[in-house]
Amino acid sequence: MEQLSARIKSLSPSATIAMNQKGRELKEKGVDVINLSVGEPDFSTPDHIHDAARAALDGNWDHYAPVAGYPDLLKAIVDKFKRENNLEYKPSNIMVSVGAKHSLANVMMCLIDKGEEVIVPAPYWVSYAEQVKIAEGVNVFVDTTVENEFKMSAQQLEDAITPKTKALLLCSPSNPTGSVYTRDELKALADVLAKHPNVYVIADEIYEHINFVGGHESIAQFEEIRERVVIINGVSKGYAMTGWRIGYMAGPDWLVKACGKLQGQMTSGATSIAMRAALAALTGDQACVTEMRDAFLRRRDLILGHMAQIDGVKCATPGGAFYVFPDFSKYIGKSVNGHKIETDMDLCIYLLEVGHIATVPGSAFGADGCVRISYANSDENLEKAMQRLKDALAALS
Ligand code: PMP
Ligand code: GLU
Repeated sequence: MEQLSARIKSLSPSATIAMNQKGRELKEKGVDVINLSVGEPDFSTPDHIHDAARAALDGNWDHYAPVAGYPDLLKAIVDKFKRENNLEYKPSNIMVSVGAKHSLANVMMCLIDKGEEVIVPAPYWVSYAEQVKIAEGVNVFVDTTVENEFKMSAQQLEDAITPKTKALLLCSPSNPTGSVYTRDELKALADVLAKHPNVYVIADEIYEHINFVGGHESIAQFEEIRERVVIINGVSKGYAMTGWRIGYMAGPDWLVKACGKLQGQMTSGATSIAMRAALAALTGDQACVTEMRDAFLRRRDLILGHMAQIDGVKCATPGGAFYVFPDFSKYIGKSVNGHKIETDMDLCIYLLEVGHIATVPGSAFGADGCVRISYANSDENLEKAMQRLKDALAALS
């Protein structure tokens, strides 16, 4: 008989990973599925980063690394914050983990106590809500709308704060919507937070380099709340290194130290070879980052062009990341061959089984009726996928 903990029983599986798996399975059966579900760059990791990993293998980087990461990697991250964000950190403010997801999990476990509230603007990335649950915190979702480009206002933040609020989870550029907060919008949020000295900000900036609207703005730039901001970042998205599993946090010493204690008991830190590769990513030529960003921008426009041709679809123009998040509510309730599409999940299953395109239902991100489309795929596949999407939707009545 299964004897699972209540903790794991209350946890939902990751919908992004589940839809990716469904797409993969169909593909393995020989179906020509175009996978627009999981969010990861389709590019291979740049050659100079591969070379650094090979050199690390040849150089026998075989032993346990320091739990928080190699000192030269911590320094490279400090330098990155200075160079790209004009933020001053010391190596003791930084810790490297097994992907940004792991950095986030460490922070949740070390910051959130049972019953404490975490404000999560919705739509939100699937793992936030589940990680808050693992930490026994309480999710307080704040709904945003396509009309406001899915951004939370200062007033909404103010209204959501209670004496139990421990943290705000802010993702910009956002997964799943692609929205990017401007400096002024962040300043307005920081002004609210300045009045609430017990509230921390977990700023997920993993899509920093995939930004189409100018330089990245971090909420950590505002001095009045700076000590209460923890930045989560990593090399997965900007350097096409999702499989290498290297993420990092930057925050107050005491929190980094606590995360180190946890990580020391859970994983002993990240993989040596992957850390040497991440060092090359952060210190090497940055041209690859801009080249990939430019390709994503071209693909965003390709997708938006098609969205504009689909009847009844509302779609914001994402300022970053590699997702569009159209509202397909108009197609929920329609039928095909006597089969009714009742939910966005039904719609995604229909699109997969009939249209052979894998996407993720908006309900997984707290936004029923929407569908997340990742355009981290070739232009050719995207063109084909958009035609399939249009045909599949047109067959509904
Ligand atoms: N935050 C967001 C918003 C993401 O989309 C992802 C991608 N999975 C992560 C964190 C985690 O990144 P990593 O692959 O480095 O764990
Ligand atoms: N961030 C990606 C996504 O949202 C990767 C999958 C995951 O880690 O959940 O699709």
